[in-house]
Amino acid sequence: MFNPDMEGLPLEKLRKLQSERLIALAHYVYERVPFYRERFEQQGLHPSMLRGIADIARLPITYKTDLRDQYPFGLSAVPEDQIRRIHASSGTTGKPTVVVYTAEDLELFAEVNARSLYAGGARPGMKMHNAYGYGLFTGGLGIHAGAERLGMAVVPVSGGMTDRQLMLLQDFRPEVICCTPSYAQTLAEEVDKRGIGRGALNLKFGVLGAEPWTETVRADVEAGLGLVATNIYGLSEIIGPGVAQEDWEERGSGSYIWEDHFFPEILDPDTCEPLPEGHDGVLVLTTLTKKGMPLLRYWTNDICSLSYDKGGKRTHIKMSAIKGRADDMLIIRGVNLFPTQVEVLIRDIPELEPHYQLVVSKKGALDRVDVRVEMGDTPLEITQLEGLRAHLMQKIRDNIGLHIDVELMPPGSIPRSEGGKLSRILDLRRNG
Ligand code: ADP
Repeated sequence: MFNPDMEGLPLEKLRKLQSERLIALAHYVYERVPFYRERFEQQGLHPSMLRGIADIARLPITYKTDLRDQYPFGLSAVPEDQIRRIHASSGTTGKPTVVVYTAEDLELFAEVNARSLYAGGARPGMKMHNAYGYGLFTGGLGIHAGAERLGMAVVPVSGGMTDRQLMLLQDFRPEVICCTPSYAQTLAEEVDKRGIGRGALNLKFGVLGAEPWTETVRADVEAGLGLVATNIYGLSEIIGPGVAQEDWEERGSGSYIWEDHFFPEILDPDTCEPLPEGHDGVLVLTTLTKKGMPLLRYWTNDICSLSYDKGGKRTHIKMSAIKGRADDMLIIRGVNLFPTQVEVLIRDIPELEPHYQLVVSKKGALDRVDVRVEMGDTPLEITQLEGLRAHLMQKIRDNIGLHIDVELMPPGSIPRSEGGKLSRILDLRRNG
């Protein structure tokens, strides 16, 4: 562990620390952020009424729209001369939201990313090829600071320019790569296409995140790049990457949320009531220690569940893989559908590649979804193709409960990530 004292803190002590931090935070925002003082007053709540972390549900929920309404610095808790960095979300779903960091927040950003990289297998002395975007997006700089804190050499490549990435991967021979899972797929595919032999790369670990992905993509990337791939989760509003991270030896069992800094809850999307361990709902996070722009109960819109792993190396709670953003959820004939649900089904059909898209269109008054998925390179007979298509449609019917048409696409025809996040949904509704 990078920080064994914190990552292994016994649960009772963790709760005590969270309680102290939550109470301090409530006073801090009440005194410094008019937006929160108003919310407290509207609810007839004063910070002195809180006894500890068990009272968190008494605090107001913060939504993305609140950040937009307070654009750009309305939620900042510090005078502007104490701000040391400003980031903004990449705006995947609308106008960007702004986050400010104090010097202390930047320390925290480095710490949680150092923990994350370490959990992902990275060690001091290794080199890290950072293909997350640098800029207003938090990914690049966040992971960068974590690697330096851990004692790694950073290759700050940023996203895109795949030719150059491949050259540097061969010449510098980094052990660790950080990028989005969809971009790791692009790199894996190019390595294969160009006949770059395994020995030409020295990669051992991939720390991948910033978008939903499943075991299907993990298997593809691990085989293609010859590494162990783990999940890193985060969002700019909370700090950026480094909110949660999978351990490289505990893959598939969820990502540890660094609970001493980010307190998680799972709420029912409709009632906003807390849900018990193991239940899917919206992840809501409270920044227990941030100074620049701390947030109370931030509604991430990401759907997952939480659970403690008694067999895990650390004491902190784990979050399951994100199924998708509530915004990306399609509702087809009353059934909820996330792209990742189709992604997992593709894995069991070896003739198919994990490159796919859900195409949403209108059929009369109703929305319609079709799946486009790529075939592998081996040519197939017409009857085999028809069998393959029917097989996937049957799997979708059995597992998701929807009759969805499947279209098999030629190799290379589905869009690839060129460096950043990749949307698996193609929405034709607005174009008729
Ligand atoms: P934007 O909202 O513009 O994409 P961010 O770059 O802050 O801004 O993205 C944060 C969002 O990215 C998260 O709320 C989540 O939806 C998604 N995300 C980040 N990491 C992961 C991950 N490991 N798995 C699934 N989704 C992720």
